[in-house]
Amino acid sequence: MNETAERQMQFLFALRQRGVTDKRVLEAMEKVDRGAFVKGTFSERAYEDMPLPIACGQTISQPSVVGLMTQALDVQPRDKVLEIGTGSGYQAAVLSHLARRVYTLDRHKRLVTEAQKVFDDLGLTNITTLPADGSRGYPEQAPFDRILVTAAAEDPPGPLLAELKMGGIMVVPVGQSDAVQHLIKVTRTETGYDYEELRPVRFVPLIEGMGQD
Ligand code: SAH
Repeated sequence: MNETAERQMQFLFALRQRGVTDKRVLEAMEKVDRGAFVKGTFSERAYEDMPLPIACGQTISQPSVVGLMTQALDVQPRDKVLEIGTGSGYQAAVLSHLARRVYTLDRHKRLVTEAQKVFDDLGLTNITTLPADGSRGYPEQAPFDRILVTAAAEDPPGPLLAELKMGGIMVVPVGQSDAVQHLIKVTRTETGYDYEELRPVRFVPLIEGMGQD
C-alpha cells in the first residue's frame, strides 16, 4: 500500500473509532483531502485527529468533530445548507458532497477568499462563499433545510432558528467560549423547536460584526 492510501485508511479508521459511522459521511470525508485546507507548518499534521490553527487566529476543527456534526445534521441530497464559520473551508467541502448547495459565511474576508480559492482548485462548484456576520443569518437565501454553526454561541441564534425550514435541522455548539460547550441539535417542528444535547465540544466563539481582515 502506498503512503497516501495508508494515511487515508488510518484517517478513516480514527473517524470510525470516534463514532463517525454514517456511510455517506465517511464517503464524503474520504473525498476531501484535509491537507488542502491546512497551510504552512501545520500541514504535516493535517491527517491527525486534532484541531489546528489557521489564519485570523481561528482553527480548523478536529476531523472527528466535523464527522460527528455532519452526521448529526443528517444532510439529504436535495438539501440547501447554510454553514456559519467557513474558517478553512474544510467542513463546507465535506457538506458539498452531501448536499445540493452549500452557503458558507465567515466574518473574516481573508478566510472566505482563501477558502474560495481551495474550492475552485478542487472543482467544488456547489459552494457559495460570502464574507458576512452569520449571527444575523442569511435572509437572501433563507429558508434552509440544514444549518451548521461551527463557532460557539451562548444560545442558538434567533435569526438562524427563524431561517430553518419546517422539519429542518440545525447543529450548533452552545456555551461560553472559555468553558465546555455542548453540541445541540435543533429540529424545527410544526409546533416549535426540539432541542437535543449531543456531546461536549470546544469551539472558538461566534462573534457579532465583521472581523478586521
Ligand atoms: N468550519 C471551519 C472551522 C470554523 S472556526 C472549518 O472547517 O475550518 C470558526 C469560524 O467562525 C472562524 O473562522 C470565525 O471567523 C467564524 N465566525 C465567528 N463568528 C462569526 C460570525 N458572527 N459570522 C460568521 N463567521 C463567524
